Amino acid sequence: MGKQLPAAVRDVPGAGGVRESNAAAVLGAVRSDGPLSRAAIARLTSLSMPTVSRQVAALIELDLLREVRDAAPAGGIGRPTVPVGLNDAVIAACGVHIGITTTTYGLTNLSGELLGSERIPTPQGTPREVLRRIAEEVREFLREWPERRIIGVGLAIGGQVDAENGLLDHEPLGWREVPARAVLEEVTGLPVHLDGHVPAMATAELLFGVSGRARSSLYFYAREMVGVAIAVDGVLHRGPGQSGSIAHLPVGGDVRCPCGRTGCLEATVAERSVLEQAVRAGAIAQPDFRALVAAAGAGDAAADRILADRARALGRAVAMVRDVVNPDLVVLGGQAITEAPAYLEDLRRTFAETTVLPGVGRVEVTRFGRDVQAMAACTGLLTELYDHPLSLLGA
Ligand SMILES: [Zn+2]
Repeated sequence: MGKQLPAAVRDVPGAGGVRESNAAAVLGAVRSDGPLSRAAIARLTSLSMPTVSRQVAALIELDLLREVRDAAPAGGIGRPTVPVGLNDAVIAACGVHIGITTTTYGLTNLSGELLGSERIPTPQGTPREVLRRIAEEVREFLREWPERRIIGVGLAIGGQVDAENGLLDHEPLGWREVPARAVLEEVTGLPVHLDGHVPAMATAELLFGVSGRARSSLYFYAREMVGVAIAVDGVLHRGPGQSGSIAHLPVGGDVRCPCGRTGCLEATVAERSVLEQAVRAGAIAQPDFRALVAAAGAGDAAADRILADRARALGRAVAMVRDVVNPDLVVLGGQAITEAPAYLEDLRRTFAETTVLPGVGRVEVTRFGRDVQAMAACTGLLTELYDHPLSLLGA
């Protein structure tokens, strides 16, 4: 069972094949190492020069590549070799992340640079109403880029994603078999690609982040929800059916989980849970995470203890999963980590005390920061483009 493709690809007969995989190889080489001469692409991809030249011409025609004239060496004898790089001026991918409290959407170019993003409180209502409202906001947002060719919308969300049928189950939002793809496609008029938010974030790390060159990597995410994704040789592992879960990993503590036990990871470290504790302890008046971080920074002992406890619970969880998977690299993402940088040291120390494997330094923090959700949602779609450039653009 292959990866699910957006509508634009599903409808193309004979999508894939040698031509497609050659185009993907050329595009991939330029993405990771460009600008490159055609000869360098041939070396990197083991394709023949005529094949590379043909694919480069096709990809330039599709506005995916462009000749980078100022990168060409001056002088020389014979035909000049003009390198090719990604064409960042035309094609863009939109991404939407629906969170429990916040919905983020953004637009990236081919290099994964965020051209713009916006955040709104996740609307209230029936799933269809919520999705329609979000899709309308996204449609307005995309009007700001009339010069861009927007290839579609990536939707990244927690819960269980049935990418094949475009359906979503999201327990915290109370959604069951919601036809998310159909609603978003109807309102935006663009093909929609669904992905789980943690796999999407891990993909963003593989394409544009810190884990692209690691042989194996473990991506660990925490905010309202927690999750992990594993990639080997640049390919994300996707298991059958439901995605794996670390929500109920026992990290200790006395926070009650909806499953009936205490000390489950997600219930303990979820932002809502942390904010509830902080309000109860009188550290903050309103459940606002930035206010909590500010209170801790200003010396509030309760705020400091709550954030340190959360960081230590995360450190234990990261160590447990890391010891099972034994990856070359661990990448940490999500606002639980990036919005409380003063507590990263607590996390790292607890991680180092808990893990039984050597090499505790192989833990990095995502460089996407608070843009991680928007980036991830866009990247799900960009991955499809990089894997199937010809069929996705109807060539
Ligand atoms: Zn539980």
